[in-house]
Amino acid sequence: MASTLRCPCGERIEGVDDDELVEKTQAHLAAEHPGRDYTRDEILTMAAFG
Ligand SMILES: [Zn+2]
Repeated sequence: MASTLRCPCGERIEGVDDDELVEKTQAHLAAEHPGRDYTRDEILTMAAFG
């Protein structure tokens, strides 16, 4: 099941599964929001509420 997360900056991040979503979100954070670092649990929690 695909997972989606909307970053607070407005970017929509999609993964084919949780693993890919976490990977893409962490890559987005590293590229666009240096200094912000979310754990896997935090990312999946945001995806659940996103
Ligand atoms: Zn962002």
